[in-house]
Amino acid sequence: MNFIFNYMQKYDYENLFLCQDKALNFRAIIAIHDTTLGPATGGCRMWRYDNEIDAIEDALRLARGMTYKYAAAGVNLGGGKAVIMGDPNLKDREPIFRTLGKFINRLGGKYITGEDVGTTLKDMEYIRMETEYVVTLPTYLGGAGDIAPMTAFGTIRAMQACCNRVYGSDSLAGKKVAVQGLGAVGHNVVAQLHELSADLMVTDIDPIKVDAMVSKYGVQQLAPDAIYNAKYDIFCPCALGSIINDETLNQLQCKIICGAANNQLAEERHGELLEKKGMVYAPDYITNAGGTIFDTDRLGTGSVSHERGKEKVSRIYENIQRVFEIADRDHIPTYLAADRMAEERIRKIAEVKKYVDDLKP
Ligand code: NAD
Repeated sequence: MNFIFNYMQKYDYENLFLCQDKALNFRAIIAIHDTTLGPATGGCRMWRYDNEIDAIEDALRLARGMTYKYAAAGVNLGGGKAVIMGDPNLKDREPIFRTLGKFINRLGGKYITGEDVGTTLKDMEYIRMETEYVVTLPTYLGGAGDIAPMTAFGTIRAMQACCNRVYGSDSLAGKKVAVQGLGAVGHNVVAQLHELSADLMVTDIDPIKVDAMVSKYGVQQLAPDAIYNAKYDIFCPCALGSIINDETLNQLQCKIICGAANNQLAEERHGELLEKKGMVYAPDYITNAGGTIFDTDRLGTGSVSHERGKEKVSRIYENIQRVFEIADRDHIPTYLAADRMAEERIRKIAEVKKYVDDLKP
């Protein structure tokens, strides 16, 4: 059976590390996709996988996603991901995360980890006890702290680029925007859009979060299922993946889809269908890169600078514009243009890197 090597060859992965400690019942996977641009970087996920193949596949898939995300964002990092097979609600976390830290340290900086689904900033502190190769950290440990406001800011920059394409102006004033999901990112999106005088509609499955936004900003509320066929200009998904699917495509009437949620297209063909319906889609991994751009900014510079980090996040506007240019140039949907943009950058920087500084034999 060559399942794993076939998969790694198909998408050109570099390494896959399996890490285990019997006494701690510790099992983790570190996948490294591509380090052309820099060290493989990407969060650590902790999840109850049904079997190890599912876990390996998840680590590989997520690592490749990070390669594209950094490449398209203009960041000099490669793609990697760690996955711990375990209960994300585990109470005694220190031994597990310090063990992962030990394994990451062995890689000598080839992989840099961070927070992801099922892990917390506290877990990153445990990893930091064993290795310096961890990026997501609280401010008191020299990290960027909560990055959701920057993910929200990047999402709004992407939305402004979409408005420019559709309406010929960046302005969000008076634009009807429907925000789905009012969690860490969504509530920051609402706050920032309110500042920009957008006309807001919101939904969440948690009524407490909806009430908080209604009372704070006077926004209109929608039932979770009512968001798809309501009338608005911009749909901003900030909750779940796969919300662009056969069912919702029949209901959506907006001009722009631009939100922070990961994996918004249920299948790639839904990206083609959006195009056919004349809707402008801001590819999710370009739109939601703000948090990680801000978070990793200190890696090249040694310290967190809010101003410098925000300036870099702001360039998501230009990144989305470049996606539109490639989509127009190659007559392809925007989700494909995003991949092409990332691949073109990796190819060109690989050319640059062949000129090594030291030519000693
Ligand atoms: P979160 O868990 O804090 O918030 C998600 C919110 O969505 C919750 O309030 C939840 O109640 C709500 N929700 C769930 N199902 C819903 C439904 N059917 N209808 C309406 N609301 C629903 O998560 P988050 O950190 O805000 O992330 C939101 C999305 O953005 C996720 O897809 C995440 O992967 C992506 N993302 C987040 C970041 C970040 O910086 N946090 C960065 C990149 C991408």
